[in-house]
Amino acid sequence: TPTERPLRKPAWIRARTHGSPEVQRLKRVLREQNLHTVCEEASCPNLGECFGHGTATFMIMGDICTRRCPFCDVAHGRPEPLDQNEPENLARTIRDMGLRYVVITSVDRDDLRDGGAGHFVSCIRTTRAHNPEIRVEILVPDFRGRMDVALAILDEAPPDVFNHNLETVPRLYREARPGSDYHWSLNLIRRFKERHPHVPTKSGLMLGLGEEIEEVEAVLRDLREHGCDMLTLGQYLQPTLHHLPVKRYVTPEEFDRLADVARALGFSQVASGPMVRSSYHADQQAAGVIAE
Ligand code: SF4
Ligand code: SF4
Repeated sequence: TPTERPLRKPAWIRARTHGSPEVQRLKRVLREQNLHTVCEEASCPNLGECFGHGTATFMIMGDICTRRCPFCDVAHGRPEPLDQNEPENLARTIRDMGLRYVVITSVDRDDLRDGGAGHFVSCIRTTRAHNPEIRVEILVPDFRGRMDVALAILDEAPPDVFNHNLETVPRLYREARPGSDYHWSLNLIRRFKERHPHVPTKSGLMLGLGEEIEEVEAVLRDLREHGCDMLTLGQYLQPTLHHLPVKRYVTPEEFDRLADVARALGFSQVASGPMVRSSYHADQQAAGVIAE
């Protein structure tokens, strides 16, 4: 049970908006197809902007996760079996929504022998078949215990951008990412990059969970040493009072300073700001780094 009173939100944290008629239309398409977007489920404040640009983040393989990260609002439990129609539904929905850039992500599926890699590949293939111009970024779980098999499967249809979030600094893993391992996650990024040197790799952190700025800088160095090209840094927001509290609101100036540090370390794309999410402006971030 929470004991600390939530901090007051500073002015730079925007509230969510309901969006334009176009956003409403896209939401209807999603309801008809029974698909989940992170944009809606997380009440992402950038939704109007992203949908308006033809970008959305889909959550595949259901909405029940086998892990329980105390910052995350996704339900925990035993997931449903995979929906074999999902790749086709997803691909048609992307077409009907007129999207140009999609991020496909999933809950952790520690119950599946390949961690869900095969379903990711089906979704990438079918999405491209129905949307020849589309760019597909995947934001993957850590495939813990299944890295070899998952990487071999992803070789069959590599994405345009490979994203795996470290989420926080290693000292806070036990509290914030139980079931995950900092070095395992770093190695996932490194090993994907070794297999696909031309596919940009990407990672991100949420700030405000109690990390020190020096710890964040150390993570940025680790990411570069493990072949990570692109970076997102955003403010952690507490989804409900039962989730980890916000320890601190990092100022826009601090986000700017960290972006400078990241660029100096050699990240080719950096998005850093209070409202930045892993998929925020994903299309624009990728525009400069995807090989034609
Ligand atoms: Fe969706 Fe990501 Fe944009 Fe939020 S930032 S609306 S989750 S694509
Ligand atoms: Fe949420 Fe991902 Fe953790 Fe599952 S593994 S609880 S979806 S952050």
